[in-house]
Amino acid sequence: MAIQKRVPMREQDPKIRITNFLSVPLGYSAEEAITEAKRCIQCKDPVCETGCPVRMDIKDIIKLITEEKYEEAFFLSKRDNAVPAMTGRVCPQEDQCEGKCVLLKTGQPINIGKLFAFVADWAREKDLIEKIELNENGKKVAIIGAGPAGVTCAVDLRKLGYNVTIFEALHMAGGVLQYGIPAFRLPRDVVDYELSYLEKIGVDVQLNQIVGQNVDFEELKKEYDSVYIATGAGAPRFLNCEGEKLKGVYSANEFLIRVNLMKAYKFPDWDTPIICGNKVGVIGCGNVAMDAARCAKRLGAKEVYILYRRTKSCAPARDEEIHHAEEEGIIFNEMISPCRMFGNDDNWVTGIEMVKTEFKGTDKSGRPKPVNIEGSEFTMEMDTIINALGTSPNRLFLSNVQGLDTHSWGGIKVDENFMTNIPGVFSGGDALTGGSTVIEAMGHGRDAAVAIDNFINR
Ligand SMILES: Cc1cc2nc3c(=O)[nH]c(=O)nc-3n(C[C@H](O)[C@H](O)[C@H](O)COP(=O)(O)OP(=O)(O)OC[C@H]3O[C@@H](n4cnc5c(N)ncnc54)[C@H](O)[C@@H]3O)c2cc1C
Repeated sequence: MAIQKRVPMREQDPKIRITNFLSVPLGYSAEEAITEAKRCIQCKDPVCETGCPVRMDIKDIIKLITEEKYEEAFFLSKRDNAVPAMTGRVCPQEDQCEGKCVLLKTGQPINIGKLFAFVADWAREKDLIEKIELNENGKKVAIIGAGPAGVTCAVDLRKLGYNVTIFEALHMAGGVLQYGIPAFRLPRDVVDYELSYLEKIGVDVQLNQIVGQNVDFEELKKEYDSVYIATGAGAPRFLNCEGEKLKGVYSANEFLIRVNLMKAYKFPDWDTPIICGNKVGVIGCGNVAMDAARCAKRLGAKEVYILYRRTKSCAPARDEEIHHAEEEGIIFNEMISPCRMFGNDDNWVTGIEMVKTEFKGTDKSGRPKPVNIEGSEFTMEMDTIINALGTSPNRLFLSNVQGLDTHSWGGIKVDENFMTNIPGVFSGGDALTGGSTVIEAMGHGRDAAVAIDNFINR
């Protein structure tokens, strides 16, 4: 039997979407979703599920969509995933569930992410909420950080009857989902709605609470039966090269926080200023670099360059993000590495010196290793440069937790049950791994909830 092609996702035209921050994909209609779901061959052994860190019941959810049982499909999604509309949009499915789909051999794996987003969007329109029987157990857990790891752990523990309080440093919950990923990939009504679930099931979210500064970690340990550290990896890495402190040079974190969390993209309705010139260079080629480049384009930059020391075929960004960026006119300059930045008498950046690279062998991760080609330096004029070189756990927080074991690069050390060297203190997400993915962080949150429950009831 011939394998039918994937139902294509309708999207905003690239020429139009670079003038707005509205969602790029327009979502499946019910008819499109059913057609796509019917392509699933319902494998006896659904290997797609082995690729899902939160262990979603992918096969059954897809079957329910084919039967138009969207409500059941939603409740089944929600059993394992607190935020399915968000993960449906941002998960790197090509490396996870869709990367294992048996139809991948034909080049047409099931579009699992978009199907799950369809179901969750359908439920959001109806404001569906599953009935949860909460058997309060009188025990208290404190969670530090309201990103995907913290939120997932909170939801799973709350469902087990725990009294859960999340302490979040920012004025909004969501972590990177809120402050990092732009609205054209993750619309804010979707983020706000899925996070409102916390309140609906009785998780206490304390905003503007920085543990280690205005909340004392030692007090939390005394007051709660267990503590979960899910503080992420929000500290940007820098090149430490000449000129990096010039005006007009941003870390991607600062740039994206201004645009997303502080709503600079709504200027002048919101009064957060953002300076984004005509020629913008973004250093790096991960999701963060794609987001920064695509935001710069939408803020009016005429030319936006990705400056990358490898080729985009070995870049960490999702395939979909690279594809969308190219459609939007982002220019990929591959096999070049930054040397220094230079500026004018007023200390504004005016350009960057780059050097060409070539591959020699492989690095620790198995990727081709770029080395600089001596004497191949050249300059590019730029009026804005954005560093998207990756992030590390925030050392300020770590320095305020006495006796916590960490790796030299700042990642928190845990045992096989996600417990740190401090009994009763657990951790997960980017705080352990450095910058990873939303769904990996959520998988940690789920596993830690089980481990915390076992610890408290030991
Ligand atoms: C711009 C960008 C784009 C990305 N795109 C994707 C993508 O498309 N797909 C994907 O899967 N992944 C993507 N990622 C990675 C993904 O977002 C992260 O791996 C994930 O958010 C990690 O979740 P987390 O809960 O561990 O940490 P975070 O999301 O970082 O959340 C940590 C939370 O802890 C809070 N916090 C920190 N310190 C304290 C403290 N002392 N007290 C109280 N609260 C504190 C922070 O304010 C934050 O809200 C992206 C990351 C970035 C930066």
